Amino acid sequence: SAVIVWFRRDLRLSDHAALTAACADGRPVIPVFILDDLAAGLGAAAKWRLGRGLAALQAALEGRGCRLTLRRGPALAVLRQLIAETGAGAVHWTRAYDPAALARDSEVKSDLKARGVNARSFPGHLLFEPWTVETKTGGPYRVYSPMWRAVKDRGVPALLPPPGRIAVPASWPRSDALADWGLGAAMRRGAAVVAAHSSAGEAAALDRLDRFLGEGIGLYNIRRDLPGVAGTSGLSEYLALGEISPQRCWHGGLRARQEGAAGAETFLKELVWREFAYHLMYHSPQILSGNWRAEWDRFPWRTDPEHPHVLAWKQGRTGMPFVDAAMREMQVTGRMHNRGRMIVASYLTKHLMTHWRIGLDWFAKHLTDWDPASNAMGWQWAAGSGPDAAPYFRVFNPETQLAKFDPDLAYRRAWIAEGQRDPPRTALDYFRAIPAHWGLSPDDPYPAPVVSAEAGRRTALDAYAVRGGGA
Ligand code: FAD
Repeated sequence: SAVIVWFRRDLRLSDHAALTAACADGRPVIPVFILDDLAAGLGAAAKWRLGRGLAALQAALEGRGCRLTLRRGPALAVLRQLIAETGAGAVHWTRAYDPAALARDSEVKSDLKARGVNARSFPGHLLFEPWTVETKTGGPYRVYSPMWRAVKDRGVPALLPPPGRIAVPASWPRSDALADWGLGAAMRRGAAVVAAHSSAGEAAALDRLDRFLGEGIGLYNIRRDLPGVAGTSGLSEYLALGEISPQRCWHGGLRARQEGAAGAETFLKELVWREFAYHLMYHSPQILSGNWRAEWDRFPWRTDPEHPHVLAWKQGRTGMPFVDAAMREMQVTGRMHNRGRMIVASYLTKHLMTHWRIGLDWFAKHLTDWDPASNAMGWQWAAGSGPDAAPYFRVFNPETQLAKFDPDLAYRRAWIAEGQRDPPRTALDYFRAIPAHWGLSPDDPYPAPVVSAEAGRRTALDAYAVRGGGA
């Protein structure tokens, strides 16, 4: 009987353990993607990007004489229906680690097994399964550096080639049309602008990795902190949907290190930051929604998402060029440089004293590389409410940070049109990407700071000293 391969955040054909196992004994394979509540609940940009990823996977499968069946509804009900229609005897998938997906998957597994269906999950979204990494005294890591030391020489399984042949069923089950799902609907104006900065699919991901290993990794350790320079891998949007496996990135990094690339070790370390985020989320899923340390529940954060200062932050109109450049970069490209993410998160939670969940939600709506674990870890880290010790004084100064990391103002110029005689396309595209009702124009004067670097720092430190748990 046939094997259903249930694709989720693993939209690739190579290095895909579930697909490889399904193809191993020549049984017909039925690739399926289910638009359940979890997929339908993605933020606008991530959902739009998912649509593009699915189109690419569809094309890749069709190129192999195969098809992707698209169905909508609760995963278990859809799978049971498909099993009834096709007589499939097995369902394979790659594991997910966020609490909602874990709950769904364990229900699916036990239900299908009880019906005699061979329901099997496989690793492939992470380098190391979270339960296989523990401290010397047992238990999960709470701090990154010891986890890095524990895993860096562990060995990662060799890559699996794409299956040589995918056997197909005598007839295909009915499929929804991807266009009917309207996955890009909530992006409105932004889609056309972001599309120029985004590509989808396994082939594009592999090409991006190759280019990075060929050109970027040597200087990655030096250039990765400069937001005005394309010095990072740009792999996050592919990793988020599993269009490339972290194993492939890891092996590429190892090879580059052996060949003497100076930035390779730093790249490997960043891949382990991604692991660390998943490790935290798997072992402490409350990181997604609540303060890691309960004492922060008393902190007097602003919680009104429509407060004028919060609106200025969302619109990239705080008057702080580093903050505004980064917020606009996200509107135009669907991504934001890591230093930008740290600066805007610090400014929102410290200078504007606003709850990190408001920022987390805004990112979840606008990032094409949205990832539940990395986003939550990043926000809790910036806010100071995360698992690392005494970070309440980590208040980035957006002015000195700009002087240090954007000394020639390349980043500022790329994204802020106001005040420039001949603004570049990127800066102007911002006004095409944002909602028309914001009423913004490149001819507006650039605003004065809503909260200055120094005043915001003092307010935050005072509040942290009085109310915060860390002080
Ligand atoms: P590179 O510098 O080339 O790094 C290679 C890969 O390592 C990345 O693709 C990513 O998978 C991983 N990585 C690098 N830095 C980090 C990090 N700090 N934490 C976890 N993994 C990392 N990353 C996301 O993928 N999705 C998110 O939703 C997300 N939200 C964030 C929110 C905040 C507030 C902060 C501070 C960081 C967030 N990050 C997120 C992490 C990081 O900013 C991005 O992974 C990185 O900018 C992606 O660009 P790149 O692929 O060129 O990275």
